[in-house]
Amino acid sequence: MPLEAPLAPVAVRADDLNARYRHHAASAVLRHALSDAQVGRIALVSSFGAESVVLLHMLAMIDRTVPVLFIDTQMLFAETLDYQRQVAARLDLTDLRIIHAQPVAVAAKDPDGQLHRTDPDGCCALRKTEPLERALDGFDAWITGRKRFQASTRAALEFFEADTDGRLKVNPLAHWDKADVQDYMINNRLPRHPLVARGYPSIGCAPCTSPVKPGEDERAGRWRGAAKEECGIHFVNGKMVRTGAGQ
Ligand code: SF4
Repeated sequence: MPLEAPLAPVAVRADDLNARYRHHAASAVLRHALSDAQVGRIALVSSFGAESVVLLHMLAMIDRTVPVLFIDTQMLFAETLDYQRQVAARLDLTDLRIIHAQPVAVAAKDPDGQLHRTDPDGCCALRKTEPLERALDGFDAWITGRKRFQASTRAALEFFEADTDGRLKVNPLAHWDKADVQDYMINNRLPRHPLVARGYPSIGCAPCTSPVKPGEDERAGRWRGAAKEECGIHFVNGKMVRTGAGQ
């Protein structure tokens, strides 16, 4: 059997894939990401949040055996956990992997579950970034549902991004706007996260998510009052690095 050719550096592949698929539709980008040898072994990472069902449905229509990674921070809304089970069953996802922080790490760093108050970056590192990094071991790329319209920090998002840890991030919905998302959900009769109707257009952990008022940024309810817009922790060459609040 011929040996697989090693993958080119991730930034080179991201540029090449963007050049080749720049004018493709979201579902075509996803289909190519699942089969293009330049992408490698791939998983979808989903929060089962307000709009996650769109990408999950698109994936299930192409290949419902692709691994789907769900990070249960153990700080999520009960509604999210119920919704996750409902959507996974409805789409018949056959390789759903529920990811948790290691209990020993939680016991050492956040025994009373209050770390989010004193050190939200540390809490995200413990409950999201480190478990995700472990779950992504063995994958060359991961699919996300991030979109340009969601926040000013995402305004330049491309379909394919070189991540700092050497993996590709694939963002098939990068160019979709709110109406595209709504239309897709309506046309495919997809179930909505129950908290959307209660004023949560973006849904994360319960202690760090609040409802959004009309006219506010979609993500204004995430870490409200804190100088933090994204998880804030990334991996660079296998080491956890704080990128600073608001990056
Ligand atoms: S979003 Fe809040 S509760 Fe969830 S991991 Fe980050 S700091 Fe902790």
